Amino acid sequence: MRIAVFPGSFDPITLGHYDIVERAAPLFDKIIIAIGRNSKKNYMFSLEQRKEFIRNSFKDFPNVEVDDFEGLTVDYCKSKGVNFILRGLRNPADFEFEKAIAQTNRALTRENVVETIFLLTSSGKSFISSSIVREIISFGGNYEIMVPDAVRV
Ligand code: ADP
Repeated sequence: MRIAVFPGSFDPITLGHYDIVERAAPLFDKIIIAIGRNSKKNYMFSLEQRKEFIRNSFKDFPNVEVDDFEGLTVDYCKSKGVNFILRGLRNPADFEFEKAIAQTNRALTRENVVETIFLLTSSGKSFISSSIVREIISFGGNYEIMVPDAVRV
């Protein structure tokens, strides 16, 4: 089985994330959207809320699942027998950051190498980020244009 893990905070899931998963869904047998838990981070939405937003957003996608994990993404991949990490690229800053992480993840895996597969953001979605969405929500703005319908606060 060709399974990909799409790791991130998803605080909350945005139309940028949605676009990447929607386009990757036909390329893999299964996609696991995996929320990384970091006790040092302060989140706007609880883990359960974030999972619920994702579950509802992809209810019509039989091969998309949601899960959460703590620790290294490659260790999570190993525990699930997964060989692919899915990531989105928005801009050169994402590229530099992602390059270091992908090369590290490859170096950290021995017998079962984990390859990172990148999809470029669709035009019109590259400015969307969870942090901008949180900023808009906190000031009472029109966040709905940037998130799937399932995300309502
Ligand atoms: P992290 O906390 O690791 O930054 P995010 O939830 O912000 O996690 O993002 C997870 C993944 O989604 C990353 O690969 C990121 O590049 C991608 N992503 C986020 N926003 C967009 C977007 N607007 N278009 C394409 N990919 C995106």
